[in-house]
Amino acid sequence: MDSSSLIRKTGADLRVAPNLADYAAERRRFSWEAVGRELGAQPDGGLNIAWQALERHAQGALRDKIAFRFLNREQAARSVSYGELSRLASRFCNVLRGLGIGKGERLFILAGRIPELYVALLGSLKNGTVVSPLFSAFGPEPIATRVNLGEGAVLVTTDMLYARKVAKWREQMPSLKHVLLVAEEGGATNVPGTLDLATLMAAAGDACDITPTAAADMSLLHFTSGTTGTPKGAVHVHGAVATHWATGRYALDLHAEDIYWCTADPGWVTGTSYGIVAPLLHGVTSIVDREEFDAERWYGILQDQGVTVWYTAPTAIRMLMKSGAEIPRKYRFPQLRFIASVGEPLNPEAVRWGKEVLGLPIHDNWWQTETGGIMIANTPAFDIKPGSMGRPLPGIDAAIVRHHEDGSASLIETPDVEGELALRRGWPSMFQAYLNNEERYRKCFAGPNNEWYLTGDLARRDADGYFWFVGRADDVIKSAGHLIGPFEVESALMEHPAVAEAGVIGKPDPVVGEVVKAFVSLKQGFAQSEALRLELLGHARKRLGAAVAPKEIAFLTTLPRTRSGKIMRRLLKARELGLSEGDTSTLEAGG
Ligand code: AMP
Repeated sequence: MDSSSLIRKTGADLRVAPNLADYAAERRRFSWEAVGRELGAQPDGGLNIAWQALERHAQGALRDKIAFRFLNREQAARSVSYGELSRLASRFCNVLRGLGIGKGERLFILAGRIPELYVALLGSLKNGTVVSPLFSAFGPEPIATRVNLGEGAVLVTTDMLYARKVAKWREQMPSLKHVLLVAEEGGATNVPGTLDLATLMAAAGDACDITPTAAADMSLLHFTSGTTGTPKGAVHVHGAVATHWATGRYALDLHAEDIYWCTADPGWVTGTSYGIVAPLLHGVTSIVDREEFDAERWYGILQDQGVTVWYTAPTAIRMLMKSGAEIPRKYRFPQLRFIASVGEPLNPEAVRWGKEVLGLPIHDNWWQTETGGIMIANTPAFDIKPGSMGRPLPGIDAAIVRHHEDGSASLIETPDVEGELALRRGWPSMFQAYLNNEERYRKCFAGPNNEWYLTGDLARRDADGYFWFVGRADDVIKSAGHLIGPFEVESALMEHPAVAEAGVIGKPDPVVGEVVKAFVSLKQGFAQSEALRLELLGHARKRLGAAVAPKEIAFLTTLPRTRSGKIMRRLLKARELGLSEGDTSTLEAGG
């Protein structure tokens, strides 16, 4: 990368003093024990996410502070304070106790981003009950698969979702003891075989003692997004709060006075770790929008809600870019001071777009369901190299390793050499198991004492310690002896003014092993044509060289994506080769 494209941090970029100012010094000083001390001991001597994130504030100075502003379709807000949220969560906890549901049992939530989702999640944690939030857009199959894998005892959902996606399949989920329904139009529900949540909540008491839990007790169950295979259930524990607190501080730069908007749905781990837990831990006010993406609406929320810290995903940023330059001109974002993104590689073009259109660069960060929290990030403390995911946060050791056939791994110390991204185990939010799949879990670790967790991602580290994403190990293309990461090719294509999104795969070829094929969707105002196809081929060849540039380009109106917005290259490949599409439960509608 040439240094002229560095985005330098200047005083003007930092409207408040950042939590992390001196990266090297903070890394040296950091310890997880100190984070535990800072969070403060729980009166019962245990550790429970709901106590740390909610109860602590509800009993203290933040009792009347707004925890969540839930926006409805008309953008009218229902504000819920820390005190009220805690009371509602206690009621829900008492509802569970009344039904005989206890510690360690599993509760699934299938709902849009409605207040009841947040109350049920926090109330379950108070009860020591394990929570698994599902995307409300899931169909009956993926719901049943996950409930069965997790042996769900309780399902919280809405009357409409129940009628459409659960009722007929209920028999296929024998572990379910209770289904609690929220009436989407308000009022009470009356559906055979279910209970009305509002009625139970009205009858429940406001106070409850949190069920004692320890750091190692299971708290949340999240299913991986399945870009490369069947979703797996990652088991998380209450001790993870230490990571959520530290990363909220360093990677999202949360300050108590922030108005924070995490656009992720809690059905994806980001929407839980950073849409619920981390902002509550930091005592900030969060915006929750029920609606799906809409460029005009999103710019409006950023402006009207006075969002100061925004955590979103590359897919949303690409869609904003695609919607053109006219809409954002109608809005102003004087309060916005920090933007972060996660979920997919953030193309350099998108980082620069942030600076141009929103006045701030976008800080990419990297993590996955298994890590439970942000591991590598562009923080306020150092310059951004657009296209890089940044550097490991304090408390996190990341390395590039070569993974050998026999399961062992060796560290690659030389800069700029590609290998598998690995993390030294020992951070508190690391997943503790893949549910019912011990062997798969064991395979994720290598090295002496199995100290390295292998992420399944390929990356490289440069001489300054920045990490660069290459691809999921399963997505990487091998062509004529070159290892090609799809991201590099996609980014080059996106630099062409006509390209909105690109997805790149390796197509088997008898001569070179695989040839690079790209699927692109176009920005508004551009039409598919043979001339444009040839122009894109030429553009990519000029940027990437003949060895890496795509040999074939096809146009698509949209690319297949997961519900969390990740391009499903696996599916592009299966379709290209006429193979079975495999598990598509996480595929976004219309993909
Ligand atoms: P999930 O568990 O669904 O959050 O997916 C995690 C995967 O998303 C990672 O293993 C990466 O392949 C990808 N990912 C997440 N964040 C980034 C990022 N900032 N850059 C590149 N890839 C990312």
